[in-house]
Amino acid sequence: MPQFLADIALPVPIDHTFTYLLPPDQKPLTRLGSRVLVPFGRKKLTGVVVGFPSDTKETGLKPISDLLDAEPTFSEEMLKLTRWISEYYFAPWGEVLKAATPQGLSRESKLVVRLAAIDLLSHLESTKRSAPKQHAILLALQKAGDLTIGRLQKRTGAKTIHAQLREMSAKGWVILEQELERAKARKKVEQVVGLTEAGRAVVQSNGTKAKAPHEGLTSRQQTLLEALSGLQELANVRTFLKQSRSTLSTLKLLQSKGLVFLAEREVIRTSEYEPVEPPPALILNPYQEAALSQITAAITAGRYKTFLLHGVTGSGKTQVYIEAIRKVLALGKTAIVLVPEISLTPQTVRRFKAHFGNDVVVMHSQMSVGERYDAWRLAHQGRIKIVIGPRSAIFAPLQNIGLIVVDEEHEASYKQFDATPLYNARDVAIVRASNNSAVVVLGSATPSAESYYNALKEKYEMLVLPVRVDQAQLPTIELVDMTKERKRLLTALKSKLEEDKKPYPKQFPVSSISQLLQDEITKRLEKKEGVILLQNRRGFSHVVECFECGYVEKCDNCEVTLTFHVTKKHLRCHYCGFVKSPPSVCPKCHGIEIRFHAFGTQQVHEELQKLYPESTVLRMDMDTTSRKGAHHRILQQFEQGEADILLGTQMVAKGLDFPRVTLVGVISADTQMLLPDFRSSERTFQLLTQVAGRAGRSNLAGEVVIQTLQPDHYSLKHVLTHDFPGFYREELE
Ligand code: ADP
Ligand code: ZN
Repeated sequence: MPQFLADIALPVPIDHTFTYLLPPDQKPLTRLGSRVLVPFGRKKLTGVVVGFPSDTKETGLKPISDLLDAEPTFSEEMLKLTRWISEYYFAPWGEVLKAATPQGLSRESKLVVRLAAIDLLSHLESTKRSAPKQHAILLALQKAGDLTIGRLQKRTGAKTIHAQLREMSAKGWVILEQELERAKARKKVEQVVGLTEAGRAVVQSNGTKAKAPHEGLTSRQQTLLEALSGLQELANVRTFLKQSRSTLSTLKLLQSKGLVFLAEREVIRTSEYEPVEPPPALILNPYQEAALSQITAAITAGRYKTFLLHGVTGSGKTQVYIEAIRKVLALGKTAIVLVPEISLTPQTVRRFKAHFGNDVVVMHSQMSVGERYDAWRLAHQGRIKIVIGPRSAIFAPLQNIGLIVVDEEHEASYKQFDATPLYNARDVAIVRASNNSAVVVLGSATPSAESYYNALKEKYEMLVLPVRVDQAQLPTIELVDMTKERKRLLTALKSKLEEDKKPYPKQFPVSSISQLLQDEITKRLEKKEGVILLQNRRGFSHVVECFECGYVEKCDNCEVTLTFHVTKKHLRCHYCGFVKSPPSVCPKCHGIEIRFHAFGTQQVHEELQKLYPESTVLRMDMDTTSRKGAHHRILQQFEQGEADILLGTQMVAKGLDFPRVTLVGVISADTQMLLPDFRSSERTFQLLTQVAGRAGRSNLAGEVVIQTLQPDHYSLKHVLTHDFPGFYREELE
């Protein structure tokens, strides 16, 4: 007897696939990329069919327990991509596939059969004689609702119903799909109403006898039938009743006469972005035009190519992406847009929505499982053309990809660092594009060293947008040496006390905001212009610092700044756990003014409220944005001018575009520079350049004040002159 075999990739930390038997009746529906449930030890696991071997040396094979997909979850293209990821990033194929599976499908979920919104009674009638098996299936579904294939077989007493199901699903009578994780991803349904054959006949026969209702019908009922027959498809009951000013009981009456049928139909959840105004028509500037024509030429040629779009902040990169996507759609292809973190880029998302409306879906982790599943399905069924999302959106189930955009390609968040597979979505994007003969656009104001290098070596093609749109000037940047600032402050305080013949206090007051920055903030508050302040450390963080020279205690093992723990009165390294007691004399300048200095966003917030009691300060960091939508609310408040100062961690540095902001302050440029990471200079340069780009994005001139303990650091030198190539040259050495 011939046996059918399937190779299954399973989400287990074992570096090979597993062979199972395929029962003959399951074979016709099982395809490459289909998910199946299989016995594995004492458990059952969900795996993906990745091959149909003709032969095996293994013995004692077990059959698969169940087929989970009506349509394969993974296309062959996705199988190829995930296989590459598995090999390149040393992760089991099954685990990569699991990471690429949409949430809501991730658990074992069975394939269920569901009635479509059809005129059930007449279908029951018509199948009674001619197709008794189908009749039995309809009856069972009418009685019991959704059923798994196994259950349905039992109820109908049929041995195998796969052939019937395939036929019925092709006719649109039933829908085959995965049962979702209960509760989490429940489908949304609506009540719909449609005309039965009998109802249609009534309307048509009456066509000539205008106005007079059909026999046995009131004119009210007649109007309803006519309204229904005028519709292209089934009508939502609630909307229909509202529009026709009718009641459910009238419809029910018509149903009892067999003229209309009521049924349930599934609704696809759309994401929560509010409708947006149509975007203004823009004329690209010559730089944008030049970049776009290179990109569209490559798209039209339909050959793989990667571009590095290096454009200063506000140079119109996003507009170039948008125009390139227009080209892609015109060619009947699709596009993926990767953004660093969706919650940080609501404005970008809104812009894509404004341009492409219902052709776009967003996929991100703050959406509910159901919303995410629906977005995935829309893409899988080819009903939308553009997917926007963070790194995992690179797995979007689109067909015929023409373009992949990676916005802010240098961002660390493209790298998955906390779960298998440890992939970088930017690099996966390049491989996926190359598999699809598609084009990649990597965009950034501060490209990563490796991408810039690849562009210089002509592995990528470099496109440059050197000026800001509308000739807006890059902001002027000033550095404040906080060591000098403190010395000055301390000397002034001491001499004042000596003059007044007063004793020194136990602790001198310390401010994290320099005189210069204070003055600049005051000016903005008077003019009602916006201020953004960056402090890249959240909540309450304490370090031990010499007040006079700014020396900070670091870990003996890893060079990380040590954190002071108030309760235990010791310093601790949050990387390796190293503990020591705080010094009483500064090891560097022998000063004795050692401070337990607190400088997270929360302290800075408190300080600002003391300095500017009249103003409203919004704090944006992980602590204030953990609730769904919090992010959006904060940004909206600031955008509408309800707050004067937006203070936050790196969240405020990225992607925001507020014309009213004319001042950006960096409380401490050192938080990033002090990290023991070979990228810390690169990241400092990127972060400061990005945040500086938030200032003066309109005809109002922008100004940036950066406070630091290391004013001579080369990252800062190049930030001051907006000199990326200069920084890059020094960094690469
Ligand atoms: P980037 O992505 O480089 O930061 P954006 O594409 O967001 O730049 O452009 C910055 C601002 O300028 C946006 O408000 C955008 O609508 C506008 N803009 C972009 N291109 C043009 C153009 N050619 N003419 C006028 N305004 C433009
Ligand atoms: Zn350490």
